[in-house]
Amino acid sequence: MSDVGGTWAGTHQFAATGVVSATTVAEVQGVVRRAASSGGRVRALGTRHSFTDLADSSGTLVTVTGIAPDAVIDEATMTVTVGAGAAYGHLATWLESQGFALHNMGSLPHISVAGAVATGTHGSGVTNGSLATAVAGFEYVNASGEVATVARGNQDFEALVVGLGAYGILTRITLDIQPSFAMRQDVYTGLPWDTLLADVDAVVGAGYSVSLFTTWAEYSLEQVWVKSRLDATTLLVPADWLGATRLTGPTNLVGGDPAALTEQLGVEGRWLDRLPHFRLDNTPSNGDEIQTEYFVPLASAADALVAVQTHASAIAPHLLVTELRTVASDELWLSGAFERESLAIHFTWRNSPAQVQLVLPLIEDALEPFAARPHWGKLHLFDAADIERVTPMLGATRELFERLDPTGMFSNDHLERLGLRIPRVLSPIADTTP
Ligand SMILES: Cc1cc2nc3c(=O)[nH]c(=O)nc-3n(C[C@H](O)[C@H](O)[C@H](O)COP(=O)(O)OP(=O)(O)OC[C@H]3O[C@@H](n4cnc5c(N)ncnc54)[C@H](O)[C@@H]3O)c2cc1C
Repeated sequence: MSDVGGTWAGTHQFAATGVVSATTVAEVQGVVRRAASSGGRVRALGTRHSFTDLADSSGTLVTVTGIAPDAVIDEATMTVTVGAGAAYGHLATWLESQGFALHNMGSLPHISVAGAVATGTHGSGVTNGSLATAVAGFEYVNASGEVATVARGNQDFEALVVGLGAYGILTRITLDIQPSFAMRQDVYTGLPWDTLLADVDAVVGAGYSVSLFTTWAEYSLEQVWVKSRLDATTLLVPADWLGATRLTGPTNLVGGDPAALTEQLGVEGRWLDRLPHFRLDNTPSNGDEIQTEYFVPLASAADALVAVQTHASAIAPHLLVTELRTVASDELWLSGAFERESLAIHFTWRNSPAQVQLVLPLIEDALEPFAARPHWGKLHLFDAADIERVTPMLGATRELFERLDPTGMFSNDHLERLGLRIPRVLSPIADTTP
């Protein structure tokens, strides 16, 4: 029996009976086959960066982070195929050495490709889809223990990409790539809230990827990070912009360690050293935090922000920082940005679970008129009825998951609670750990 441990932030201790760290796809198949024959359960675990029991199982966890990435570039299709457990930062470093780039990255490069894709993890940029929108195909171990492949254009592709590990274990993923590009990252301070609310599009469209940071408590937003491609047709990084000032001295993410941040202050260089917020060679914090995030339509961004702002005094004491980012609309059924351009309103909370539980209903009520969708990997209080209300393809997705995994091997309490899998009464736990 392994020491199963918990999430990276320690926000959930896994109840699974063991963790298998597979080094080959055959090992993954073996675990699934044993579970299939004994009626046990299995779930994929990535790099543990989600915040809840999402990845947990009453049976065995399997991680593919130990399978060699064996990345292969296909220049004809401009794609890379890589082991699903690879960390984005390692893939990005290798791609750059070959002269290629990804369209976007999340804030933390340590997160696994499979785990990020499975939850619709995103970076920012009005024209940038979530990381899952780069998926051109994938291989997974299905409920029979066989390796199945799905590619863009195949039936069910859009349903399965953001799949929460609910129907199998991804082992290899093919991602769109593009020629490497150079960037700069500038930090502005003091953008007045009124200026943002008067023209959200002007602010979030100021660069290739724009992130706004606020504690909700001040008259102006604390920081705006503008990440610009040097090959952009217009590159505008004035010293003064919409009432904000471009920083020329050392910066700091509110409450964070500046040494952990990627290159800022307009220094030009590689995309992979500027698209994520955090450096691959420096873990940003000890994970003493809780994260929450909701996607609202970008067209309603100003109204949604005002609705949250009315609870600023309740939010501020428990908050480390809020980040606002944009995600381009996509066709992936469980994506937070499914069929709508989105503003993602993120909260990094102090690690005070009881207080956070009291604040979340205020935020969720405030965002209900905007049909806010929660980030699958972060803490929220939605139940199955709430998820149904904001997830147009929920019923069809659940039906597909049930068809692919009729015994519920890849299901768990979390998925059943949210209506993503049908609730089942389990026979006594079968331990599938070898
Ligand atoms: C410090 C920090 C920064 C973050 N930054 C961002 C950000 O910038 N943008 C954003 O959108 N989110 C962000 N997140 C959230 C994070 O990206 C998601 O929670 C993501 O799912 C974590 O991936 P993981 O590999 O750790 O997956 P895990 O937490 O291990 O698992 C998450 C889900 O993915 C599934 N999964 C994992 N591996 C596989 C596999 N091989 N096959 C099938 N399913 C699999 C699991 O079953 C589970 O359902 C951040 C989280 C942290 C802690």
